[in-house]
Amino acid sequence: MDVDLSQLAGRLGSGRVLTGPSIAPRYRTDAFREHRGSPLADQGELPAAVVLPRTTEEVVAVVRWASEAGVKIVPWGGGTGLMGGARSSSDSVVLDLRGMHRIRAVDPRSCTATIEAGIVLETLDRRLWEKGLTLGHDPWSRPRATVGGAIGTNGLGYAGYLRGTMGDQVLGLEAVLADGTVIRTRAVARSTSGLDLKRLFIGTEGTLGIVTAATLRVFPVPEKEEIRAWRLRDFPTGFECLSALYDDGLRPSVMDFEETFEGPALPWGSGGGPPTLYLGFAGNPDVVAASWNAARRRLRTARATVLPDREAREYWKGRHDIIYYHDEISPGVTRADIALKETVFDYVHVALPRSKILAFRRSALAIVRRHGAHPIGFGVWTQPELVSMEIMHPARGDRAAARAAVAAAIDEAIRRAQALGGSMEYVHGVGLKLAHLLPAELGTGLDLLRRVKKALDPSDLLNPGKLGL
Ligand SMILES: Cc1cc2nc3c(=O)[nH]c(=O)nc-3n(C[C@H](O)[C@H](O)[C@H](O)COP(=O)(O)OP(=O)(O)OC[C@H]3O[C@@H](n4cnc5c(N)ncnc54)[C@H](O)[C@@H]3O)c2cc1C
Repeated sequence: MDVDLSQLAGRLGSGRVLTGPSIAPRYRTDAFREHRGSPLADQGELPAAVVLPRTTEEVVAVVRWASEAGVKIVPWGGGTGLMGGARSSSDSVVLDLRGMHRIRAVDPRSCTATIEAGIVLETLDRRLWEKGLTLGHDPWSRPRATVGGAIGTNGLGYAGYLRGTMGDQVLGLEAVLADGTVIRTRAVARSTSGLDLKRLFIGTEGTLGIVTAATLRVFPVPEKEEIRAWRLRDFPTGFECLSALYDDGLRPSVMDFEETFEGPALPWGSGGGPPTLYLGFAGNPDVVAASWNAARRRLRTARATVLPDREAREYWKGRHDIIYYHDEISPGVTRADIALKETVFDYVHVALPRSKILAFRRSALAIVRRHGAHPIGFGVWTQPELVSMEIMHPARGDRAAARAAVAAAIDEAIRRAQALGGSMEYVHGVGLKLAHLLPAELGTGLDLLRRVKKALDPSDLLNPGKLGL
């Protein structure tokens, strides 16, 4: 598409409106790449331009310009999204918000931080530590993902049960609508003043507005945080033990319980074995000690064996390592592209009523195997209701067939979760990859969502095609 960018370049400066060869190939797709199980293309199209705003006023100027020029806008944070939510098309400009990375205010007494949306989560956490605070939201992708992207996907981190999702931490936000209006919601713990407007922009992947800033609930750095590793006899025993532990009222700062299966090797190592539980508590030392006392009672009853401290230490130290696989090693090529050249690897992340988890496990493992793929791991993360399953399929030779097999397994497993009363995705959003499953997920709610989109963005300016919109 031929787009006249001169007016925009005049407003922002040509160095902040990238075109042609100065657009890095990286902008063609986020972390939804060729090694994922999906029939969708492995890349998007190059956008007409990449725009690098530094202020909310500049975002407003871009939106007004795009609206007049009939150009779409794709908000971009760290580009670590796994669903193609930040993929561009040739009739769009990518709005890379990482130039908006200022911390506007920190209020240690209230435990709040007001920040711009493009700040990287880890950078923010480091800055907060200087004031005795911590961000709380700690996804695997913390070193690269931004606050705006985490709000756009309503992400979940290791401490999600204790601290909530990214969206739960948002007290108030600033967003630019498709007509250039700037909306600022009050940054308060609770409000009953009608519809909670900030929720329009949480988990909606930039389709209803561009988040430019937010006031987040942050937390005092815990006086004590302890993580330990345990081996459980089998998944059902461990799962019942965990359920009891949560019913006791414990609030783990970390909970990762996974069984693994023998299968073709993955670049970061794999292998079958009985399930391992990583469990942690954080906060006041008395609370942490009391939590361990209660947890140990449950773990003893389940005959769990404690693993050497080293196991828990290494797990915790390496918790962000995988995101570096998504760094580029040459233009447009990531370490993951090379490491997974002969492998299709993907996840299923479904939320289910607790009573359905074991039934889902039986079906899902059978589904994956029936499609000729390998389950690599099955577990629950942060709380017993949230299931993660890792799937792989060797792709030597016919890569398209391997992608199709994994895609079919994912779809069938998700439909099974939906049939059991679950939700198809609890952490990464919908993007392009899962959009075809949204009618079953939302039912008539999808029509309502489309009406909201139509009301706020009648020209379909903001991130079209994502989230089934
Ligand atoms: C190896 C790996 C591990 C991961 N682990 C986790 C995990 O533990 N927990 C988790 O939650 N996620 C995880 N993710 C997914 C991803 O990191 C998160 O979804 C993250 O929040 C995306 O942030 P980002 O800044 O990279 O957003 P992007 O990928 O750039 O964008 C994500 C979506 O948000 C939209 N968006 C971006 N910025 C804005 C904005 N300012 N306003 C409105 N919309 C916006 C984009 O258009 C897109 O739809 C992982 C990804 C990888 C590759």
